[in-house]
Formats: sequence, C-alpha cells, structure tokens
Amino acid sequence: MAKNSSQGWDVPAVEAVRVTPDTRVSGVDTRGTPGFVGDKELGEKLLEERGAYLSSLQEKLYANGRSEHEHRSVLLVLQGMDTAGKGGMVRHVIGHVDPQGVDHASFGVPTAEEKRHHYLWRIRKALPRNGQIGVFDRSHYEDVLVVRVHNLVPPAEWEPRYDEINHFERELVDAGTTLVKVAMFVSLDEQKERLAERLDRPDKHWKYNPGDVTERGYWPKYQEAYQAMLDRTSTDYAPWHVVPCDRKWYSRLAVTELLIDALERLDLDWPPANFDIEVEKARLAQS
Ligand code: AMP
Ligand code: MG
Repeated sequence: MAKNSSQGWDVPAVEAVRVTPDTRVSGVDTRGTPGFVGDKELGEKLLEERGAYLSSLQEKLYANGRSEHEHRSVLLVLQGMDTAGKGGMVRHVIGHVDPQGVDHASFGVPTAEEKRHHYLWRIRKALPRNGQIGVFDRSHYEDVLVVRVHNLVPPAEWEPRYDEINHFERELVDAGTTLVKVAMFVSLDEQKERLAERLDRPDKHWKYNPGDVTERGYWPKYQEAYQAMLDRTSTDYAPWHVVPCDRKWYSRLAVTELLIDALERLDLDWPPANFDIEVEKARLAQS
C-alpha cells in the first residue's frame, strides 16, 4: 500500500490539474502529464499501488456511512467528449474499490419521463448515499454543454443554469458531499484514432455511435462551452480539474490521486465499536 504520494510527481496531482482563471480549453496539452515526471511504466505501477490505498480509504468511508448519522460521501463527476475515456476511468480507477461502496450513474439523452422534469431531477435521484463514492459518467453539465452547443433549449433557459448549478453544488457540499469534478480532454486526432479503433474491432462496435462523428464538426463550439463551464462553475467549494487524456495511464493515475486527496481530507477514523469489546470476547469464548 503506497501511502507516499510524492513518488513520480514533482507537483501534487491536485495542484497540477486544478483549474485556474488562466486555464484555456484550447490550450490544453492533451498529451501532457501535468505534475508527473515518471514514465508510463512507473505510472502503471503507481496506479496499482495507489489504487490499493484508495480502496482502504474507501472502506473507511463505507464503515463510517454504516455507523454515522452525519452524511459524508464523495462524488466524482466525469465530463468529457466521446472517447475521452470515462468508461475506462470507472473500470480502472473505481474498479479498485469494493463495488458495494460505489453509487454509479451515467446520463444519456434524457428519457421522455426525464424531459418532463427539471434537468436536476434525475441528478438528485442519483446522488451518492452516506458512506458511498458516487460516480457520474456525464452529469448535470451536459445541460450546459450539449444543450448549449445545439441550443436544445433557448439561451435564456441554459444561461441561468451556471448559477443554478453552483447553488445546487453548494447545497451538496453543505450536506456533506465532497465533489471531485474532472473535465477530460482528448485531442481531435486522438479521438479520430479511438473512433477508428471502434470501427475496426468487432468487440468495440457497440461503443461506436455515428453521431460521434457529427459531433466532431462542433468541436470549436464544444471548446467554447467547456470554457464557459470551467469559467463559471469552478468554485472554491467545488473546483474543476482539467485532466489530459491522450495518455490513459496518466489520466487514470491523476484521478486516483484526486480521489485519494478528497478522502484524506475527510480525515476519517474507523468507527468505534458500539458494543463492549471485552464482554463480547468473553461471550465468544464461552460460545
Ligand atoms: P454516451 O455517454 O456515449 O452513452 O452518450 C450519451 C449521449 O447523451 C451523449 O451524446 C450526450 O451528449 C447525451 N446527453 C447526455 N445528457 C444530455 C442532455 N441533458 N441533453 C441532451 N443530450 C444529453
Ligand atoms: Mg458515446
């Protein structure tokens, strides 16, 4: 279990990928490995070691959720264009922890029922329970991304959503949820290669959606929408992180570190026994 996070990093991941007022989506080096000075081999080794440590922290969160009334949970929000690697993030990062402790939700085109409700309705229903790590594969941010790019609702309707989302997230944080927001970026070229692979491999056809190619034509508009999202919804209580994703080993390691940081900041102890240990030992011995 590698508790020491400094190996391989010259700047801690949380600092290296945290959004600043100067962050420009168009300037993200998607092949970059911010803060990490090791190579792929070290990155992959660390992912396993740090994944094991993440798992031990998660178990503590889960244990507290079982015995504490005060709500504490962590919510990982993954936003990124198709092929950015959201599914792989779930498999290779969240895959390290006990599935019992994970509340996973993915958000696609709203269903007929979802369309009849406020856009946050389906989000609220999927929030993590006490002691859980929640994972959103896409999220409420689609309602200021794809919706904005395609004007699925008029600007007068999506424009107020930035403030509304900030308010919503403030409520979540106040109620004991730590948000870890990750914007995942691949280059247009890398996306092309990943889509080509989906077309070439029968085991990947299920991931291919002809609409993904259409969306490539809207890249500049998506960049603009992602920029507005980062500018307007990165707050001190729920900051965005910009993670380059052309190198999957890096993005997975970086997100592992973000989750470890969030869990460590909760500063959890193992919950105390709610029974008399000596009495129970004596009872067990006699049984
Ligand atoms: P995937 O993640 O590949 O299964 O694709 C899900 C699709 O649902 C993506 O094209 C998203 O842009 C789309 N989507 C998610 N949320 C919304 C929303 N609120 N309005 C419209 N489309 C959405
Ligand atoms: Mg897709």
